[in-house]
Amino acid sequence: MSNPAIPLQFVAACRLPTEWGEFTMHGFEDTRSGQEHVALSMGDIADGRPVLARVHSECLTGDALFSQRCDCGPQLQAALQAVQAAGRGLVMYLRQEGRGIGLINKIRAYQLQDQGLDTVEANVALGLPVDARDFVLAKYMLDHLGVRQLRLMTNNPQKVATLSQVGIDIVERVPLQVGHNLENAHYLHTKAVKMGHMLDAD
Ligand SMILES: [Zn+2]
Repeated sequence: MSNPAIPLQFVAACRLPTEWGEFTMHGFEDTRSGQEHVALSMGDIADGRPVLARVHSECLTGDALFSQRCDCGPQLQAALQAVQAAGRGLVMYLRQEGRGIGLINKIRAYQLQDQGLDTVEANVALGLPVDARDFVLAKYMLDHLGVRQLRLMTNNPQKVATLSQVGIDIVERVPLQVGHNLENAHYLHTKAVKMGHMLDAD
């Protein structure tokens, strides 16, 4: 039943067979914005043991349109593949496109990047936040799913800190080194230099 104190409401779950095995897809709705989010789980994730997990923010261009401007698509695939290999895990898919600025603003930012600005400078030039993502959504999902501790798949130590701040217990950071190409080398370098991402050995 709906609890007004919790803005993210679970709605329904179904089977989701994928290239990387069969997941359960859990659907949630943000009652404040109407925005819809999903989590894909495999195995018993509520048994109290740390769960291999990724908190993935939507990137339509990278996840679905095969863009090589970023590394989101390969990271998502690698995360699903890693969960399958472990036989147990969770991928939370948060619909906050373009680090939260939305798809059309992302295109505007890409246009400025085509003219020579980097990803951070482009957002600033448009008067947009560099990162507008809301990770408390993941905390609500974990509470619903009965998950207490994560082994988080990310290259971004700042994300570990950000998720910890909203009350998520991360016992290990698991690097994901995939999806590097010539088109996104500059973007990944900027993320490493300006946003603290790690690009250590492949
Ligand atoms: Zn992306």
